[in-house]
Amino acid sequence: MTNNIPFRESHPSRTCTTQYTDHKRFKPHLRVDFNQRCGYCHANDIYLGGATVFHVDHFAPQKKFPDLRLNYSNLVYSCPYCNRSKSDDWPSTDATQNIANDKGYIDPCGEEYVNNFCRDPQGNIVPLSPVGIYMHKRLRFGLRRHQILWIIHQIRVTMNELHSELEKKPADYALLTQLASLNKEYLQYWDYITDNKANA
Ligand SMILES: [Zn+2]
Repeated sequence: MTNNIPFRESHPSRTCTTQYTDHKRFKPHLRVDFNQRCGYCHANDIYLGGATVFHVDHFAPQKKFPDLRLNYSNLVYSCPYCNRSKSDDWPSTDATQNIANDKGYIDPCGEEYVNNFCRDPQGNIVPLSPVGIYMHKRLRFGLRRHQILWIIHQIRVTMNELHSELEKKPADYALLTQLASLNKEYLQYWDYITDNKANA
């Protein structure tokens, strides 16, 4: 596992103390608290259409635990793919028992979340524990889109660094060539996401 990459760049934490009567009103707070990323798969919402398309997920499902519908500590900023895949699944009849017989879900705001997943050098999400394996399967972390979104983000970070270098050395041919090549790659991956081929 030595070549594996840490799963997250940032850690979410729930800080909202405002109370609303509609759980969707919490979304702007969740977006900030989760650093614009899906709590489960860590996809950045800028690549998926922003907050408009992201969901407010109930960690312990609201259908099974309606008392937690407006409880901010039970809410997760989630991409539509993870939210729909998780649906009302829960491993027990108790909202506080989130894992039973190696099945269940780890709260993304818990420190231990990162002990259950990492990325391989190609950007695939790899489970590191039995409950990690369960979540990986249920939330469909094996979909190619998760790898591609990770690659797109890495390319974007590198391109931004090259643009900063170009400001200092505007006529650097090697830099320009590298940037052009990355730009082509970026657009190819982007086509893949927008063509919806990444759900395979
Ligand atoms: Zn997700």
